Amino acid sequence: MTTERVTDTRGRALRDLRISVTDRCNFRCSYCMPKEVFGARHRFMSRRDLLSFEEITRLARLFVDAGVRKLRLTGGEPLLRRDLERLVEMLARIDGVEDISLTTNGSLLTVAKARALRDAGLERITVSLDSVDDTTFQSMNDVGFPVEPVLVAIDNADAAGLRPVKINMVVKRGLNDDGIVDMAARFRGTGHIVRFIEFMDVGASNGWRLDDVVPAREIIARIDAVYPLEPANPNYRGEVARRWRYRDGAGEVGVITSVTQAFCGTCTRARLSAEGKIYTCLFATEGTDFRRLLREGASDAQLATAIAGLWSRRADRYSELRHQATVALPKIEMSYIGG
Ligand code: SAM
Ligand code: SF4
Ligand code: SF4
Repeated sequence: MTTERVTDTRGRALRDLRISVTDRCNFRCSYCMPKEVFGARHRFMSRRDLLSFEEITRLARLFVDAGVRKLRLTGGEPLLRRDLERLVEMLARIDGVEDISLTTNGSLLTVAKARALRDAGLERITVSLDSVDDTTFQSMNDVGFPVEPVLVAIDNADAAGLRPVKINMVVKRGLNDDGIVDMAARFRGTGHIVRFIEFMDVGASNGWRLDDVVPAREIIARIDAVYPLEPANPNYRGEVARRWRYRDGAGEVGVITSVTQAFCGTCTRARLSAEGKIYTCLFATEGTDFRRLLREGASDAQLATAIAGLWSRRADRYSELRHQATVALPKIEMSYIGG
């Protein structure tokens, strides 16, 4: 059975699947996995809780049948999952997949790993880096990890042909916003694309306050004052980042405006957690357990029906509705659901 082009209650197609391959991470970024919550006593998923590569691939294939064209591997830190390139290779063999990408903190991205991922079929990579200032970066990842190896990881991705490398910087007022222009300066003219992300109220443990958000228009104004920018058209409908080009031709930057300019109207993303729950919104409070269906022996047709049913009932538009009461909802953590 094919469920091609299923749409949700707001007419949005299903086009992207973000796959979290682990809930573990070797960083403790304060806005994502604060140490007070993800400390020594936190219980991560056990090995048998995690979907196997075969289970992930089977689900991904059924999501592709339902309309998905792009897959992104994330986490936690996806490179902590052993032999990730084997999963990439399995996913790349699915008919209809147009793009496979990965988001990583870069700490484990050696030249050999970048090449293996590329050879397996990975097309693009996003490396997260919140500051080019060592002191700020070390305090934000909260495990004292320095900037330099992340810069090397970006070079490794580039050398392996995973270009253009995208670099994600989450901007939090008073923490790293004084480094916005330095970040832009560091990557201007390199071909890499920095994307500045408004600090979001994902999960329930990062102590989010609206005052901590630096609005995208302010981010752009600060860069523009030093390196003049002009808006650029989206590469495709539903592109998450708004693009801005340097007027002198030194490349582009993006801003992800989840808080100040919601983009729910074009959101075509589903998320698969490492233990096999599907979430139809980053800010969901509940997921649908596909691991149970898989392990109870559901047929492809039954799984396809479950996917189509879930998507056709979808009404999510959290960012459009965000207010103080929604911030306090018991949302699923970012490290679990995958960014
Ligand atoms: N560990 C990998 C990494 O950091 O790239 C992949 C997972 S991480 C959850 C994916 C992305 O989500 C990262 O770029 C991270 O900076 C971003 N992120 C995490 N928490 C966030 C928050 N509260 N607001 C905005 N972005 C956030
Ligand atoms: Fe780990 Fe990525 Fe979350 Fe930082 S943002 S704690 S690197 S999962
Ligand atoms: Fe999509 Fe939910 Fe984010 Fe809106 S809030 S853009 S529906 S993930």
